[in-house]
Amino acid sequence: MIKWLLIFSFILEKVVDGVIHYLDSKYMEKSLPENVKDVYNEEEYLNWKSYEKEGGRLDFISDLISTGLLFLFLAFNWYAGIFDFLSVYPLYLQYLFFIIIMIAMMLPIELPFDYYNTFVIEEKYGLNNMTKRTFWLDQLKDFLIALGVSYGIFVILIFSFERFGNLAIVVAIIAIVVVSLVVAALIVPLMRIYNKFTPLQDEELLQKLHALCEKYHVEVKKVVVKDASRRTTKSNAFCAGIGKKKTISLDDNLVNNYSSDQIVAVFAHEFAHARGKHVWKSLPFGLFRTVLIMVALGIVLNFPVLFQAFGFQETNYFFAMTLIEMISWPLTMLLAAIGNYISRKHEYEADAFAAREGYGEALIGALKQLSKESLSDINPHPLVVKLEYDHPTLSQRIAAIRKEEANVAR
Ligand SMILES: [Zn+2]
Repeated sequence: MIKWLLIFSFILEKVVDGVIHYLDSKYMEKSLPENVKDVYNEEEYLNWKSYEKEGGRLDFISDLISTGLLFLFLAFNWYAGIFDFLSVYPLYLQYLFFIIIMIAMMLPIELPFDYYNTFVIEEKYGLNNMTKRTFWLDQLKDFLIALGVSYGIFVILIFSFERFGNLAIVVAIIAIVVVSLVVAALIVPLMRIYNKFTPLQDEELLQKLHALCEKYHVEVKKVVVKDASRRTTKSNAFCAGIGKKKTISLDDNLVNNYSSDQIVAVFAHEFAHARGKHVWKSLPFGLFRTVLIMVALGIVLNFPVLFQAFGFQETNYFFAMTLIEMISWPLTMLLAAIGNYISRKHEYEADAFAAREGYGEALIGALKQLSKESLSDINPHPLVVKLEYDHPTLSQRIAAIRKEEANVAR
């Protein structure tokens, strides 16, 4: 009984997710907000719609298949079967082998969709710059990183709970916080696994950027250019690092194809993230979510009946996580929405800063071009924005920038 209730909850999560994305795809048919009507011309607008449709259809099929597979795993107690099969090995090896088996099994399902998305859809719409070699190398790196990260998490969990009993939650939280801080601090070196970062060369541009840093006495350790063009024609920028020294990264696509004012505008936006310590400010909420998961884990592990319902003879750390997801997905969804709300608030703050520095119009121009080039969804369903968007929509950002400009003018 409990088993089928939980499976029902699992299916319900997927259905809710499906309904939300269905609403989103229907919303695309509505006319665009007034301030973004000029982003696409008639032909580009149709092009954007068919791109969204093809991508959406691919996502739907791939979600359907993976949901079906996970359903079989739950219904037929296959997770317990795999662990039974691995039970001759010591605990730490069981989890290592289990993760390898799971990733290897998901690979033949996910890989064809990834390949199709990159070399058929993205290629068709002129968004792909990836060679087959880069694609396969990326897949290999993804595999190794997924293996390392998920195994790392289980090592922390197994070690904490096997060694420290009731204190495990505290030990695991501390360990996970330390690891996340190290990752946040070393994000650029870690990203070198995928990309090359070279110092920005343009002297004139550098002068403008440094002037901004000096004006506000904020030290930016490095301004680097990321070789995004190796994979895509889309552009992006980010500010990374915690503590005093931040790194701001601009994509080469941005540096090469945008006007100097637009690049400074994007830099000013990223600079505002650095100045406002936004990476640092979003950490407490992330920590709060980790604490909740650990507490939930501690609770679930005390109910062996939940594990027995799915064929396990004893409690299991992997399945405990699966159980938590099945039980608490509405809460997880709510927490994600709150996290995204905090992130969107930071984005508005960063845009407002750029506007106050006199780069409002340049930023609007850059954002419009960025959206157009990446065929991004400029008219998403408001509910999807609330739940899933860590950036406000283009239309919302333009409206907020214009409002800030009007405030400055007054
Ligand atoms: Zn931002």
